[in-house]
Amino acid sequence: MRTSAIYPWQQTLWQQVRRQGVPRAHALLLKGRPGLGKLAWAFSLAKAMLCEQVDQAGRACGHCTGCRWFEQGQHPNFRLLEPEALSLSADEVGNESRASKPDATTDAKSRKKPSQQIGVAQIRILDDFIYLSGHQDRFKLVLISPAEAMNTAAANALLKKLEEPPPNVLFILVTHRAQTIPATIRSRCQQIAMPQPERRLAHDWLVQQGVQHPDYRLALSGYAPLLALQYDEDYWVQHTDFVRHVASPKELDPIELAEKLHKLDLSSIVSWLQKWCYDLMSCRMTGSIRYHLAQEAAIKRLAAAIDPADMAFLWRDLIALQQLARHSLNAKLFVEEMLLTYINSVVPKGIQP
Ligand SMILES: [Zn+2]
Repeated sequence: MRTSAIYPWQQTLWQQVRRQGVPRAHALLLKGRPGLGKLAWAFSLAKAMLCEQVDQAGRACGHCTGCRWFEQGQHPNFRLLEPEALSLSADEVGNESRASKPDATTDAKSRKKPSQQIGVAQIRILDDFIYLSGHQDRFKLVLISPAEAMNTAAANALLKKLEEPPPNVLFILVTHRAQTIPATIRSRCQQIAMPQPERRLAHDWLVQQGVQHPDYRLALSGYAPLLALQYDEDYWVQHTDFVRHVASPKELDPIELAEKLHKLDLSSIVSWLQKWCYDLMSCRMTGSIRYHLAQEAAIKRLAAAIDPADMAFLWRDLIALQQLARHSLNAKLFVEEMLLTYINSVVPKGIQP
């Protein structure tokens, strides 16, 4: 079973939601960036709603029959819907951010590719759960994560259920990208934004977890503590090397760097470059740097020389590449081309090789 947790930055939200008792809406949409602990919080809520003796703060007791069933992933009144790709690796990793950021290690390529989507069959099969099985006199919970993984048919099937909501069923949708969920579904959910932790709080929490360089990690993760926690030594070394190369685009050899990077998760590589380019643009426009605090000098130097129009095109290209990253057939070529586009955008025209 996945982690259920209420992190320090989620306490206030927890109190607000639990004060209502049972949510009045038939569906909750829990939204926010990856790495804030949405899924763990959603699990905590589901567990608490199925617990037979919650504490004063409305948290699950952890030892009643309901809690034990839940922890074993066997509660008859609970269903988790997620893409097959996630459920296969859930026991190994158990973390919410894999869906959007399979950064550190994704060995999915070595397996037959499991589906990244939530399909219509997964929604249809809920009929039995909702109307027949489980303890009828108790609440039933359906957790869908990440909700943006539902394909169109699945979303339509869910919408039908939300239009005529079955009694005593609560749907909890967890999403990193709420804007991609159909408006017809969103409008039928009570939307809850997962709060972003205060920097100090996030810092202290990472220190408690025994993490080194908490400030750099936080900056690199965009102040998402669970992402920051996930970066292991390999990730650290590879990313540092990547940054060293892109910080000197005139000397950057795309073929050499692509050779080093192409075995890593492509979507992560694109997001590294996106963060780097974000800092270049942000430095150019407002003088501030968000992710790469340690490279301030290099970023300032590069930002002063770039053409904002070129950067806007590069930004658009990177968004397109992010979409293609999962489907690329030739990873090395993919990275080479991405790096070439980068060089062409940031090195002033007269100097390009
Ligand atoms: Zn309990």
